[in-house]
Amino acid sequence: MSKITKVVARQVFDSRGNPTVEAEIFSKNISAKSICPSGASTGSHEAYEKRDKSNKKYLGKSVFKCVQIINNLISKKIKNENVHNQEKIDHILIKLDGTKQKSKLGANSILAVSMAVKKLSSKIKKIPLYKNFLIKKNFKLPYPLMNIINGGAHANNGLRIQEFMIRPDGARSFSEAIKMCFIVINNLKKMLKKEGHSTSVGDEGGFAPMINDNEKALKFIAKAIAISGFKNGKDISICLDVAANELYKKNKYSIHSKKFISSDLTIKKYLSFIKKFKISSIEDPFSENDWKSWNKLMKNNTLNTQIVGDDLYVTNLERLKIGFLNNSSNSILIKPNQIGTVTETLEVIKFSHIIGFKTIISHRSGDSEDTFIADLAVGTSSEQIKTGSLARSERVAKYNQLLRIEEDLGRQAKMNKIH
Ligand code: PEP
Ligand code: MG
Repeated sequence: MSKITKVVARQVFDSRGNPTVEAEIFSKNISAKSICPSGASTGSHEAYEKRDKSNKKYLGKSVFKCVQIINNLISKKIKNENVHNQEKIDHILIKLDGTKQKSKLGANSILAVSMAVKKLSSKIKKIPLYKNFLIKKNFKLPYPLMNIINGGAHANNGLRIQEFMIRPDGARSFSEAIKMCFIVINNLKKMLKKEGHSTSVGDEGGFAPMINDNEKALKFIAKAIAISGFKNGKDISICLDVAANELYKKNKYSIHSKKFISSDLTIKKYLSFIKKFKISSIEDPFSENDWKSWNKLMKNNTLNTQIVGDDLYVTNLERLKIGFLNNSSNSILIKPNQIGTVTETLEVIKFSHIIGFKTIISHRSGDSEDTFIADLAVGTSSEQIKTGSLARSERVAKYNQLLRIEEDLGRQAKMNKIH
């Protein structure tokens, strides 16, 4: 038993330069800290992110209330608890909050503490963090879904789809996966430059050229894959996060142009994209409450494309169960701050694997140097990880951590299954 002896919080900043919560947990003279990330295209069913809305010093974005909550309320409740008893500590936090969406304490206060507890536990046990989750042996490395063109709420280029990604399906090791993405990204950069486009990057490190046509972006990516000597759909495949919540009005969608069209026509266009560009994964193709359209797409999903629920499920077990019964998708995006504790996140991952859903561990568009999700992906045998491009330190930090884990596992390092 190792008791928690001190709990400290502070306001730090995320990759967008916005205030966020860091919690540091002590057991005598050993400590571990964790930083909560923050989304831009959030689902309305997500756990609540608490900010000091009336404090104008930081334009209503500071998190000093969260810091106070952790230093006083939370600290009192979890001091003297056994740091290895994650479930008990998380349930103390859930009970102390007492609301459905963690609006009293804020999911950002709770998650920073919850992740720091997990980290401290592994530090005290003297084991790497990835060995302190569900999986105890036979660790697998996730395939990266690497963002290479940013649009939607993550850039200001007018591109309607939020994320254009590549997944190196043909890679036999994590380092090979990164190398393949590196080559495609560099070739894409050259192509964009040559055609006079900007190669500055968006929130998640992907390029944000002034292209406002999804199809044009897809053509660029397909060409970059080919120039790199890879076969699209085999060595590397293209993945999308539509983030359709942002493009939905009165049962219609404006995904493929500014014009709002029916969900049936939207599905037709998705199916033609899947065929034409060999798209292997589409996240949030419809809005968070449009269960009917999700089901319709799954019924027409003859190529068994990966259909991923992000804003649809918000890492929430109850919503995942509804989606499973409704045949809404075949995979789920996992974002710990959508639900607010490590324990609840692990429950959702466990259930997903039981029902045969793939789990994709994900960053947020506002993220930090914290690499917790890299270890989480390996420690839960999650098939994939989505953590931005090979640009911006907060994104690269997760890939670097996965390279360290690969090295740590040595000959036992195996990639997870992709299909
Ligand atoms: C996403 O939508 O999958 C994402 C990572 O963006 P955000 O963090 O803005 O929700
Ligand atoms: Mg998403």
